[in-house]
Amino acid sequence: MVRTRYAPSPTGFMHIGNLRSALFEYLAARKNGGSFILRIEDTDQERLVEGATEAIIETMKTMGLSFDEGPTIGGEYGPYIQSERKADYLPHAKRLVEKGQAYYCFCTKERLDTLADSGGFKKYDRHCKSLTAQEIQARLDNGEPYVIRQFIPEGSTSFVDEVFGEITIENKEMEDQVLIKSDGMPTYNFANVIDDHAMHITHVMRGSEYLSSTPKYKLLYEALGWEVPLFVHLPLLQNDKGQKISKRNGDASVAQLLEMGFLPRAIINYAALLGWSPPDNREVYELAEIEKIFDIKNISKSPSAVDLTKLKWFNAEHIKAMPFDEYYEMALPHLKNAVKTAGADYALLAKITQSRVSVVSECGELVDFIDCLPEYDIELYTHKKMKTDTTVAKQALQAAIGALDGLDEWTHDGLSAALAQAAEANGLTKGQVLWSVRTATSGKATTPCGATEICEILGKQETLRRLDVGVSKVS
Ligand code: GLU
Repeated sequence: MVRTRYAPSPTGFMHIGNLRSALFEYLAARKNGGSFILRIEDTDQERLVEGATEAIIETMKTMGLSFDEGPTIGGEYGPYIQSERKADYLPHAKRLVEKGQAYYCFCTKERLDTLADSGGFKKYDRHCKSLTAQEIQARLDNGEPYVIRQFIPEGSTSFVDEVFGEITIENKEMEDQVLIKSDGMPTYNFANVIDDHAMHITHVMRGSEYLSSTPKYKLLYEALGWEVPLFVHLPLLQNDKGQKISKRNGDASVAQLLEMGFLPRAIINYAALLGWSPPDNREVYELAEIEKIFDIKNISKSPSAVDLTKLKWFNAEHIKAMPFDEYYEMALPHLKNAVKTAGADYALLAKITQSRVSVVSECGELVDFIDCLPEYDIELYTHKKMKTDTTVAKQALQAAIGALDGLDEWTHDGLSAALAQAAEANGLTKGQVLWSVRTATSGKATTPCGATEICEILGKQETLRRLDVGVSKVS
């Protein structure tokens, strides 16, 4: 039975790197019919941010990452908030002290600050390792503050990571790290081992920044006589400046991406491909599909770059692929805001914009010319390939006015035939006429639909008015 966990520290909102961890952990569980657990790691009380736990749970819900055990829903191995498990850690640390694999340390901060760097690595000098049992008891009875440190034996430690392969570290490169802090709280380095064991986690999945600490965790599992779980380290995520993705480096939170208009399904799709390759050549997936094909074996160890342009592409693809009604509902407020003309056909506006936006809110600016012809530069009429310049445009617009003025059948087909006829009768190409009409009726270089559709949407009176404006501009 596969059991994975997402173990965030509630120190802020989730960014794309946190989401990627949560997603891969979720996927590994779902793919194997296992359980996905949420555990809040709040042992560093100084860094806690109020409301962060709720925000993390909310983001996971929005993203569709349902967990099977965790805060708010409970489970067999709770509580799932580390500060509520405080009493569990000290007995394990004491057990390690009895076995000689951990020891009490009474060193003051001032003393620790004086320890010199040795080879670029400031390491505790084991000053308290030699205290006798009586000395320790006397100091404890005296109420002196203490920490408990892990004793790192001599030799080297190896483990096989499912992504990065075999990793060996010389033990002398590891410090006798603190397991229990002077406030009685465990450190992250201790609590993660105790809790992963207590919660029967089979696959410990987390960012590659934890690779170098993993030998210490392995030594702890062994010292406690526990089975070592599988380790799955996820490749580094970098932003466009080549920095590790983090809140500190100014990278957007998932909540901010949502505010920017990115859809949960596009963000999930994008995050899934940050370090994992699907077995086929597709790129666009729904979460439910990925759940079926995800495989830890296809996680890469090379860093991935987070790129908002690519995320926009995914968003556009998901917008194109979504049912029209769903798009219409999301687009409607933006369309109503951009186009206030009475009787505007919003369903039609939705139809012509669905395949042209990368975030839904862009639909408004694609069609805002309908309400109000923008100021435009007559250079817009120039189209080299179509051999159109302002002189040609003038002829084309006059021809169009002539043809449309008497047109009764103001339909797509009617308009299309009338404009084609006008071109032919005036020795112009249909392209030249349509180009000029589209420019005059929209005042834009790009529009979500062609000249005939624009005329249809604007109606006869407004179309003719804009064509007249066009003629006077190019005259
Ligand atoms: N609390 C750690 C963090 O937020 C979790 C690392 C882990 O998954 O063990 O980075």
